[in-house]
Amino acid sequence: MSLSNRINAIEESATLAMAAKAREFKNRGIDVISLSLGEPDFKTPAHICEAAKNAIDEGKYFSYPPVAGYQDLREALAAKYQKENNVPYRAENIVVSNGAKQSIANVMLALLNPGDEVIIFAPYWVSYDALVRLAEATPVLVRGTIDNDFKVTAAQVAQAITPKTKAIIFSSPCNPTGSVFSRAELSAIADEVLKHPGLLVIADEIYEHINFTGERTSIASLPGMFDRTITVNGFAKGFAMTGWRVGYIAAPKWIADGSNKVQGQITSANCSISQRGALAAITGDMVPTHTMVDAYRKRRDIVFNLLKDIPGVKANYPQGAFYFFPDVSSFFGKSDGTRTIHNGDDFCLWMLETGHVSLVPGGAFGDDHCVRLSYAASESDLVEAMKRMKATLATLK
Ligand code: PMP
Repeated sequence: MSLSNRINAIEESATLAMAAKAREFKNRGIDVISLSLGEPDFKTPAHICEAAKNAIDEGKYFSYPPVAGYQDLREALAAKYQKENNVPYRAENIVVSNGAKQSIANVMLALLNPGDEVIIFAPYWVSYDALVRLAEATPVLVRGTIDNDFKVTAAQVAQAITPKTKAIIFSSPCNPTGSVFSRAELSAIADEVLKHPGLLVIADEIYEHINFTGERTSIASLPGMFDRTITVNGFAKGFAMTGWRVGYIAAPKWIADGSNKVQGQITSANCSISQRGALAAITGDMVPTHTMVDAYRKRRDIVFNLLKDIPGVKANYPQGAFYFFPDVSSFFGKSDGTRTIHNGDDFCLWMLETGHVSLVPGGAFGDDHCVRLSYAASESDLVEAMKRMKATLATLK
């Protein structure tokens, strides 16, 4: 008896595994500060909850929704992309799924054949690599370095493309680095993509609202890129709706149709009530989102100033999302007298057990020199966590 090669080729989600470990410590009565999960610490805004409650009371949303999502929601999402992102999507381009994670899985299964290569910009969100493997294609990692704010350059993309490359995937704002590609950087990448007929870009814009740069560019809006781009987005981050599980793609119709076919066989559709909440989110008041983003910006600065003050930690200044991805490799080979830290896994386990702060090892995101720290936590917890990290790290010799 054995599991499939397909499932044996992928790892468990490292972020969920670390969160489970932190919970285990908390259950034992240890006061752990958890900075490991990529989850807003805010409640879903009230008007969205009201819309979902009303949908239940109306009694009209108890049957299977259309596979790709309700027409009014898809029209609203298309209208949002036309108005805010300057991409002429229509309802037929949109497929609403059970979270952006399923959106990406649908696309991978719809597009990839064994032997196809997918260029993943590293550091990358954990599931990209796993989902490419699940589709039996080959991930090709192209690395951004901390000196370039972890951003992969167009020249690196040009070098990595082979006749087998089917797609390129990245997130901007980025999980785990918080980096945001500028319009000029995206244009240079688009120019490389357009040199290769049939090459696609999967642009994950799930953090689009949590962007402190004041500039937002969808790569699909650049000349020639509409037909080459699958835009991924969702409600989890910008609207604090992780548990509602609503994500979507906007893509050329043939790709949307392919995704729809996958979804029709796997989940039938996204939850009806969640979709009514999502419609209220996309058509409603953005003030709650702006308030959350202001809080994230303030926390980013608090954490940045405290991290800078910890000798041996090297951090970039993230421009979006709610993560830091500091390089902690200067501690590798050091010991607190009883334990030696060899790598990011050791570092995070030791920090959880000794400093009672939970982080995620960077290896899961494609860079073992770093660890991911989520600042979707209260200011007081963040300040206390930085204090603990500084004190704990000072014991390493
Ligand atoms: N893309 C990125 C970059 C993410 O960080 C996440 C969530 N951690 C997702 C996709 C998946 O989002 P969802 O919860 O909507 O499945």
